[in-house]
Amino acid sequence: MERVIIIGTGCAGLTAALYTARANLSPLVLTGSMPGGLLTTTSIVENFPGFPEGIDGYELMVRMQKQAERFGARVKYGTLEAADLTKQPFVLTVDGEPMEGQTIIIASGASHRHIGLESETLLERKGVTYCATCDGALPMFRNQPLVVVGGGDSACEEATYLTRFASTVYLVHRRDTLRASKIMAERTLAHPKIKPVWDSVVTEILDAKQDKVTGVRVKNVRTNAESVMDCAGVFIAIGHLPNTQIFKGVIDLDQNGYIIPKHGTETNVPGVFVAGDCSDHIYRQAVTAAGMGCAAAIDAERYLARLSQ
Ligand code: NAP
Repeated sequence: MERVIIIGTGCAGLTAALYTARANLSPLVLTGSMPGGLLTTTSIVENFPGFPEGIDGYELMVRMQKQAERFGARVKYGTLEAADLTKQPFVLTVDGEPMEGQTIIIASGASHRHIGLESETLLERKGVTYCATCDGALPMFRNQPLVVVGGGDSACEEATYLTRFASTVYLVHRRDTLRASKIMAERTLAHPKIKPVWDSVVTEILDAKQDKVTGVRVKNVRTNAESVMDCAGVFIAIGHLPNTQIFKGVIDLDQNGYIIPKHGTETNVPGVFVAGDCSDHIYRQAVTAAGMGCAAAIDAERYLARLSQ
């Protein structure tokens, strides 16, 4: 039986892995379907302390994994299919294989939110994407007009990154002010290739019949006027949804699906702890996720110490 199983290898999961490994607990760390978490899909991370020139998101996560492994963390690639957290030992099923753990740290992160259009689903990976760093350099997007949807830090980051490849980047936002941090918003709006399209929502992505993106139908929410903008790609950056469905009914979730922590990183189930974006809809930063991962590791270690007394 494992003493600690950590679900997730984003900043929260890998920091929890580092701390529990250094406590000689030899944690088993499950990657899920996105090893390294959402940060692997960003470009330069400029606000993680210790990297004055910034660091590539993917590289940061590779380094975190290596650091945790150096002290004995074991990273297992696989997708969590079921979690029985109703009795000790807890049983997780990963790609058909059951595994038992005395403590669990849930650091399952969050996934990209979708607009919810039928055309969005039909054209996913055919010009509709949720990751500029992953897909921006594809030949189909080179020297073409591109659309980014959203008004937060992610949308600004995606839009700025895409200026390397696109002829023009249209930033379609449903309000007339950006939610992004001041520095990101100013940098984005000052870029000569980025054109904001305020008070607007995408109502259809064209053209499912051609099986590729040729444009978007946009509605101005103040005037209700509709227009069509030509583009070769649509990059959607409208926030995230917590990856917690599998725990519903056992672990207390709020109305938006975020795990409700109590007394630090404890959940309502003794022995199950939580860290990172799956329980945080307020800060959602790499460094806060790492801090929560550290706290969850310390809480799990103390819980195990009490069990063995
Ligand atoms: P976010 O801050 O929640 O912003 C989501 C944006 O999408 C908002 O502008 C929102 O509009 C818009 N939106 C939400 N649902 C929509 C819908 N159905 N249709 C159209 N627009 C919709 O998400 P985020 O930008 O992904 O950032 C998440 C967190 O990560 C934040 O805390 C952010 O600071 C952090 N982050 C930081 C960095 C960095 O510092 N380098 C980079 C990326 C992310 P409204 O504004 O009208 O609500």
